[in-house]
Amino acid sequence: MDIKESYDVVVVGGGAAGLSAALVLGRSRRSVLVIDAGEPRNAGAGHMHNYLGREGATPAELLTAGREEVGRYGVEVRSGRVVSAVRTGGGFALGLEDGGSVSARRLVLATGVVDELPQVPGLEERFGRDVLHCPYCHGWEVADSPLGVVASGADCVERALLFRQWSEDVVILLNGRPAPQGEDAERLAARGIRWVPGRIARVVVEDDAVTGVELAGGEFVPRAALVVTTVPTPDTTLLDAVGGPEAPGVKVVGNAATPYGGVISSAADGMVAGTLINHDLLLEETAAAVAEYRNTPKGRAA
Ligand SMILES: Cc1cc2nc3c(=O)[nH]c(=O)nc-3n(C[C@H](O)[C@H](O)[C@H](O)COP(=O)(O)OP(=O)(O)OC[C@H]3O[C@@H](n4cnc5c(N)ncnc54)[C@H](O)[C@@H]3O)c2cc1C
Repeated sequence: MDIKESYDVVVVGGGAAGLSAALVLGRSRRSVLVIDAGEPRNAGAGHMHNYLGREGATPAELLTAGREEVGRYGVEVRSGRVVSAVRTGGGFALGLEDGGSVSARRLVLATGVVDELPQVPGLEERFGRDVLHCPYCHGWEVADSPLGVVASGADCVERALLFRQWSEDVVILLNGRPAPQGEDAERLAARGIRWVPGRIARVVVEDDAVTGVELAGGEFVPRAALVVTTVPTPDTTLLDAVGGPEAPGVKVVGNAATPYGGVISSAADGMVAGTLINHDLLLEETAAAVAEYRNTPKGRAA
């Protein structure tokens, strides 16, 4: 790899986690490059919640502010995708999708996750708007609305009970799954939650809003929003290439490390990792300085 640029730290991923790591590292006078593919997990959501001080901001507003803030401390943010990583004598060499390459003494992987949704036509297009996975992110906005929980795994009962906190009108759409039995059925009945058998043929959207689902038999179930369980899946290609999460010189932060964390906890994670990396670098620099000092007359005399 023909390396043209080198940094103390390269941060792969410029979401809340990566930018927070970059902020503390920039303020620590480190040379830092953030490379970001620009697809944060919550991009489809109109607003971001539970971020104290920025409640209700759009995801893009937070990241725009974050980029501006890290820029004040000399951090470079570049759009692009890192496609390869190898460990070198001095740290890491990273290959970019555009053919470029950079090197870093330390590496922060803040690459987030991709949410895999149940395979139902029309769900993906509405994800983050009126197809929802997280009551803490969206529950308030759909409070008192008719909600349909799309059963896709064993947790549909818990999910329905959870969203019941926000609406009295919650229905489980079984979508070919078996009906709840025994204690589960009793808990749902006690909370007034019904279930509807039948496979979902498609999500019905009118005037840019979900109005319900159509079942395979043609029946329409009116719902104002749908609830899904996603599988948050990290891409571990880069991490695997450099030796995994415990490998020296690497920090994995945010959703890439904790898929169920929110924006503020991802930011906190990045901030803490940034301080640890700075500490690690200064230990390395101090050790090098001591070795050099011992070779000086003053050092030899000490
Ligand atoms: C629909 C939805 C709504 C949500 N709403 C909320 C909410 O209201 N409040 C809340 O607290 N949480 C919310 N979340 C969760 C929130 O999105 C995550 O907690 C947060 O985005 C995690 O931040 P992160 O920095 O770890 O990852 P991300 O924000 O996903 O950022 C990762 C970045 O890394 C980039 N990247 C990935 N691979 C590479 C690569 N190889 N090279 C370069 N760049 C790369 C991606 O393109 C992306 O820009 C929501 C999630 C979803 C799905």
